Amino acid sequence: MTDVHRFIAIDGPAGSGKSSVSKAVARRLGFGYLDTGAAYRALAWHVLESGADTADAEAVRRAASDFPLVQRLDPDDRRVLVGEVDVTDAIREPRVSSAVSGVARVPEVRAQVNDMFRRVVAEAEYPAVVVEGRDITTVVAPDAPVRILLTAAPEVRAARRAAELAGENAAAVAEALHKRDASDSSVVDFLNAAPGVDVVDSTELDFAQTIDAVLSVIARRRSVERGTDNG
Ligand code: C5P
Repeated sequence: MTDVHRFIAIDGPAGSGKSSVSKAVARRLGFGYLDTGAAYRALAWHVLESGADTADAEAVRRAASDFPLVQRLDPDDRRVLVGEVDVTDAIREPRVSSAVSGVARVPEVRAQVNDMFRRVVAEAEYPAVVVEGRDITTVVAPDAPVRILLTAAPEVRAARRAAELAGENAAAVAEALHKRDASDSSVVDFLNAAPGVDVVDSTELDFAQTIDAVLSVIARRRSVERGTDNG
């Protein structure tokens, strides 16, 4: 099996349900799970930790050149380490969320991180890996047989994210999310599906229905790939 067949590529904006759905799908199918947003967040943490400014592209490149990221593919192991430091919780802090877009917009850094993702999937001890992010369907694995864009209406995404971050001010969460989306979408378009990418819109779906919708796209695309289906 070539590497590209090991990718189940899922893109989408924050609050689309992409992480929890991707994890659930990986568990159901016995596949690995790779949260590429967590890798970018860990890199942003690493840059902040070095005392550099995440808007300084040169400092970001320097930090990226020495970035000992440890991220496992087990969907039940969400720990992320940079070297010896467990950054699992730290990378979800608002200071990292607001710094991450700056880090993610440096082209050389994206190229390096993308190579790391491809290597991780190629070496995975799983039959396939659900890889979740912003540019997986378009840049990291544009030839993957299964490519899905998971979307939801902006107000639904903001409400979901606010519910996740219990205690935070809902309006502030919505504003931060829209700001991050606007900044991210100037680098990669994850709001519109590229040709051949299946869209799953979760606006009207609950969690279980969204998982089912994604599983049915995977089943259909994989059966087409195996040539057992002519549609
Ligand atoms: O998915 P999550 O919201 O955790 O992603 C954090 C950030 O990482 C995004 O806001 C974006 O700036 C960046 N990212 C990216 N490309 C990816 C995944 C995430 O630029 N494939």
